[in-house]
This record gives sequence, structure tokens and C-alpha cells, in this order.
Amino acid sequence: MPLDPRLVEDIALRLRQAQRILVVSHIRPDGDAVGSVLGWSLSLRAAGKQVTSGLADGVPGSFRHVPGSDRVRRRPEGPFDLVCVVDCSDPLRVGEVYPGAAAPDINIDHHVTNLNYGRINLVVPQAVATAEILADLIQALDLPLTQDAASALLTGLLADTLGFRTSNMTPKALRLGADLMERGAHLPELYRQALHRHSFEALRYWGCGLGQLQRQGKVAWTCLTLEHRQAVGYPGRDDADLINMLSTVEDIDIVIMFVEQGSQRVKVSWRSQPGIDVSKIALAFGGGGHPAAAGAEISGGLAEVQQRVLAATFALDEQAHPARDGEDYISIPSGSEPDL
Ligand code: AMP
Ligand code: MN
Ligand code: MN
Repeated sequence: MPLDPRLVEDIALRLRQAQRILVVSHIRPDGDAVGSVLGWSLSLRAAGKQVTSGLADGVPGSFRHVPGSDRVRRRPEGPFDLVCVVDCSDPLRVGEVYPGAAAPDINIDHHVTNLNYGRINLVVPQAVATAEILADLIQALDLPLTQDAASALLTGLLADTLGFRTSNMTPKALRLGADLMERGAHLPELYRQALHRHSFEALRYWGCGLGQLQRQGKVAWTCLTLEHRQAVGYPGRDDADLINMLSTVEDIDIVIMFVEQGSQRVKVSWRSQPGIDVSKIALAFGGGGHPAAAGAEISGGLAEVQQRVLAATFALDEQAHPARDGEDYISIPSGSEPDL
């Protein structure tokens, strides 16, 4: 679907009036946050604007190869003529990078839970990544799409689609991947860096989580505690992408990851099979996300948060499959399995 031409015109007008531009995204940035901030910043810079890129938590080690990441500031100094927030559904998730981000000039995002908090809101939930919206916008505004900007945007696209394989993938997104390759982005290398490379500590951290994997019916979950993090020396506050590994478990509707954050807070991530919308539960717990991938940061101890979240998730799964009674007890008589 093409971008709304009125919104494109509004953005064009605001950009014409601005010289000093700040581009920011969410805390604990993922590949789409990093790729979108950098791709948009690089394109605007190539168009002659003075652009500052900001991320409250800086660029994670796994994305330092993305062009422009060396110029990202955690606490940018203004003044700015225009502030643009990308890939962020809720202004509170911008963090301390820009305290005034509660009402930025432009909010560009693909989360279905976006709160439309900007003066201009370009929110396209059908887009598989914010990087996809930005690629469309750069083309609609006739801005330069350099090799570096294409590499950053392809990183965003790859990260949010787990390498073009999530259930929301579209032919349009796949074509965009090819277009970005034609602009010089190196798909195999960006793919490897974004999705197929983990630190030694991250894999040991996975071991802690995998060792505690549990399931009840079609819901599976595990947790990572502060003790785990310390034991293996994992430096981040995230799950080291373990949730993507968990979502490969067969015959499961929903997987959940609990990551203890200290000061009585727990980061929760949900991933679901098509047809089960976990963004609703995340929103109810003060978070947000997409139908098949959502998250929230919840106050409380690990055990208590687990209990509340599991109860709400079992209820959602039950709603999705009301007629599943007894299904777990159906078994194939031995000897009748087909020879595959
Ligand atoms: P995660 O589980 O952190 O990988 O996030 C999955 C999706 O949910 C991503 O699109 C995030 O941007 C979104 N998300 C995660 N945590 C939050 C939160 N606290 N508030 C709003 N959206 C979130
Ligand atoms: Mn993101
Ligand atoms: Mn995204």
C-alpha cells in the first residue's frame, strides 16, 4: 500500500523548514530501531541536513557494524528544529535521549499499538519493519538512498522479519530487500551480523534459559535471572535473542521469555503463531508490539510477574482454541506411525 500522500506532503513541508534534525528510537534498541535511525539519518544527511542520531542505550555491540553507528549519541545536545521518532510505539520508550519526545514533530512506526503521539504520525502496521516505511518515504520524498543508508535499512528489514521469514512477510518487503541489494547493501554479511552471530557469553546465557524451559499445553516459557546474567558475564539487559530460538519449538502456540531487570522489574516478551494476537496482552500490561511479537516491562518480583503473565496468556490461548478439550490426550496407537 502506498504511503498516504497528505502525510508525505506534511513531512516534506516540515523537512523543508528544518536544518538541525534529531532522529531517535526506543530504549534497548533492536535491529529495526538501529537500522531505521541510521538509514533515515544517513539519507537526510546526504540531502544536506545537519542530523543527530540518538539512542538512549547507544548501539548494541551486535549492530556496531551498521554504517553511521559511530555517530550515535546517548544524550544529544540541541537545539533542534525538528525531532523525529522512529520504530517506537510509546514516547516513554524513547528514554532519556530526548526528554521532550512526548510530542515529537514526526512519529514514524509500524506497531499496531502506536499511541499516535507525534504532531505528524506516519504509522503503517502492514509494514514488516519501520525500515520499510522509511525506504518508501525516502523514495516518495526523492531523497538520496546511498549504499550506507541501504545497508542500515536492510538491517532493519532483516532484523524484524528474522531474515524474511516471519508470518507478516509480504512480496513487497521481499522486493525491497532486492532493491536495497541493488543499492549496494551486502545481504549475506548483514544477515550474518544481524541474525547469525552471537557472543560466547550470549550462548552460555541461552544455556541458562534453555535449561529452565517449561511448557503447559501449548504455551512454553522460561526465565533469565540477574544471577544467570552475572554467572555467565552477559553484559546486556536483554534476552540475547533467546526468544527467537524458543519460537522454533514445535506444536506450541505462544512462547514467553521473562528477563529479570533488578529493582523489582521484569521484561516480558511474547511470540505467537499466526491467529493469536499477543499485542493485546502486552498492551494490557503497559507494553505493546505486534500481533505475533510483543513485549512489556512489568513491575514486581519474578515469581509474581510470571504468575500474572502466565494466567493472562493461558486465558488468551484458551480463547483462541476453545474446542481443544482433551486434545493433549489423543495418542497414535504404537506401530501405526507412517514410515517417513
Ligand atoms: P521484544 O519482545 O522486546 O523483542 O519486543 C517485541 C515487540 O514488542 C517489538 O516490536 C517491541 O518494539 C515491542 N515492545 C517490547 N517491549 C515493549 C514495551 N515495553 N512497550 C511497547 N512495546 C514494546
Ligand atoms: Mn524495534
Ligand atoms: Mn520494528
